Formats: sequence, structure tokens, C-alpha cells
Amino acid sequence: MSQPRLLDPDLDFIREMKSHGAVDVKKCFQCATCSVVCNVSPDDRPFPRKEMLWSQWGLKERLLADPDVWLCHQCHDCTNYCPRGARPGDVLAALQRMSVMRYATPKVWARMVREPRFLPIVFGIPVVILLVFMAACGTLRIPEGEIVYRKFIPQWPVVDVIFPITAIWAVACSAAGIRKMWLELKAMGPEIRKEYRYSPLEWVTVYVGGTIVDILKHQFFKLCDANRFRFVAHFNILWGFILLAITTACVAAGVYLFGKQTPYPLSNPIKWIGNLGAVILIVGSVLAIKNRLSKGEKAGRATYFEWLFLWVVLATGVTGLLTELLRLANSPTIAYPMYFVHLVCVWFLFAYLPFSKFSHMLYRTTAMVYARWAGRALGKGVEIAPPAMGTWEH
Ligand code: SF4
Ligand code: SF4
Repeated sequence: MSQPRLLDPDLDFIREMKSHGAVDVKKCFQCATCSVVCNVSPDDRPFPRKEMLWSQWGLKERLLADPDVWLCHQCHDCTNYCPRGARPGDVLAALQRMSVMRYATPKVWARMVREPRFLPIVFGIPVVILLVFMAACGTLRIPEGEIVYRKFIPQWPVVDVIFPITAIWAVACSAAGIRKMWLELKAMGPEIRKEYRYSPLEWVTVYVGGTIVDILKHQFFKLCDANRFRFVAHFNILWGFILLAITTACVAAGVYLFGKQTPYPLSNPIKWIGNLGAVILIVGSVLAIKNRLSKGEKAGRATYFEWLFLWVVLATGVTGLLTELLRLANSPTIAYPMYFVHLVCVWFLFAYLPFSKFSHMLYRTTAMVYARWAGRALGKGVEIAPPAMGTWEH
């Protein structure tokens, strides 16, 4: 028999939620329409009705360790059907923002990307870092002759030092955030866990591998109805980033393993992958921005947190593509500053990954892995495959 759980309501919680965008949470009268219409909500312990109730009760600790908050894809089917205008999709979005703050290490970085007043600092940091390194290398001027970007921002030490250190920072902060989240999920959710014992290899392939396949196919995003357009935008952004990551890995291998310096000719397949990635990224981010602007509140109430990320994603794709086009057009006075802006955007995406809207990639993935591990379905009517061997532990 399950043990009774003591409730520990946080009376300031609703005020805090409202500051994160959940302004209509108290309108909910628990009709459960939202849980019925949500296609990614499993039949077993469906959401978001229970999250609405927990929010009204002020169960902060329960909510911020609730995997279902992150299984929500922010399609707003539920918001559009809610008869009370309680906007459950916005409530889950607010809980996601609060979770990012909770898991952030160090927290000041999460505050910086959440509050507009810190915008000059957010972008000032990479600008100053790049300028200091360039000054130290004596490249603070537009170079003459053929456009070669490493004459302006030297590969060594600028790119080779700043970006690996930023990547290590992002990985360390992401790992700390994921660890915090996982421990809280495990501590707060034993009643839904039906653990199945896999070997470490099976654990990686079944839980992590299966989740990654789901994400690459956007298996569950497709189930949303009212905001299907958002699926297309998100799918493009995801695959844009994947192609650009493949390009970066190939270029790094070319430079460091085979001594093949950039720029590569347009006939090089690495260029094709990179350009395709940039175009897909631009298309996806334009669709996402257009969707939010044209549908207004039907697409969810976006806050500064979402807008900042979306605009930086678009800027990254546009400046990346323009960097190439301006080099081909031989316009050094615009091409070199454009490359500088592009690197600032890339630095933003890396350095603020665990703190910005980008972090949903970490936390939704963790929630999906947890859901598989807990034997929890990831959609209405979706069955979790029974274990091939061994036993379920209840
Ligand atoms: S959020 Fe709306 S649809 Fe969901 S239970 Fe409350 S009133 Fe009903
Ligand atoms: S926003 Fe979409 S995915 Fe999230 S709870 Fe509502 S219907 Fe479900």
C-alpha cells in the first residue's frame, strides 16, 4: 500500500507563477477538458488538469519535480478548449520557466536571460571577450585582400580557446541541471515508477536511444492538433541545428586532423550540409516567429524568455548564411562585422544553453527518458512496450 504523502503548500507560489506568465491559473474549475483534449497526455495519470489543481493548492515542490510539465509540447490544444480561459498551456509554460530557474547552476545566468534589463550584459560578455582576444592578436581592423575570416578572428587563440571553454561550461552546467532534475524526479515520483532492470548498455539503448529516436522523428509532437504548424517549425529548427552541428564537426576534423583550412569551395559536400542546415534553421525560426505573431495568444503567451531565444536562433542562421554570401560577393567591410555578429550569436547559444529556452532540449529529453524508465506512456492510447526479459519492479 502506498504511503500517505504530507502536502507542503507554498502560499507565495501562485504569485510567483503569475510573474512567470500563468496569470489565469485560478480560473480553473477542474472540468478536465484539457486532459481529455491533450493528445500527448497518457491515459494513466493524465495532465494538465492535475497540474492546474496542484498549482491552485500551491504544491510547488510537487510541480517542479513533475515530469509531465516537460512532456507538454506547448501546442495549446488544451488552452484553446478550456471553457474557463484558465490557459493550462501557459501554466505549464510558466512551470517550465520556473524549473529552468530551479535547475540552473549558477542561477544568476538564468536570471540574466530571463530579465530584459540584463540584455546588454548578456551580449556584452561575448562582445568584450572577442574584442579583448582580437586586440591581443592585433586583428582589430578590417583585413585587406581576399576575405579569409581567420585573418580577422584568428583560429588560434580566439576560436580555439573561447569556444571549447564555452562548450565545456555549457556541458558542465547542463550536466548539473540534468542531475538536479533527475534526482528530484526520482525523489518525488516513486508512486509512478515501475522500474525494469536493464543492463547499462540496454539502459542507454532502450531509454536514452529510444528517446532520441522519438525526438528526431518528433513522434509525439505530431499528435498535437490545434497548433500543428508549430510542429513543422520545431522540426525544421531541430534538423537545422543537427545539420549545422554535423558541419561544425566535419570542419573541425578537416582542420585539426587533416590540416584542411577553410574556406572550402562551394562544391564541397560539407558546404552543402552547412548551407542546407542554415536554410532549414532560418525557415524553422521564421515559421515559429510568424506562428506566434499571427496566432497571438492561441499559440501561447510568449514571454521575453521565448522571444530572445527565437530571435537569436534566427539571427544565427541569417548571419551564418550572410557571412558566406558576403565573402562570395567580396564585401569585406560588411562581411567581417557580420562574421563577428555570427560568432556572438553562436556563443550565446552555447553559453546560455542550460539557462535559456534552449534548455527545454535538456529537460524535455530528461523527462522523456524518465517517463520511459518509469514505464509511463508518452501519449494518449500509446502503450509502453513490455520488457523483453526480466521483471517490472513496482
Ligand atoms: S484548465 Fe480549463 S479545461 Fe482544464 S480543468 Fe481547468 S477549467 Fe477545465
Ligand atoms: S499545451 Fe498541448 S501538450 Fe501541453 S498540456 Fe496542453 S494540449 Fe497537452
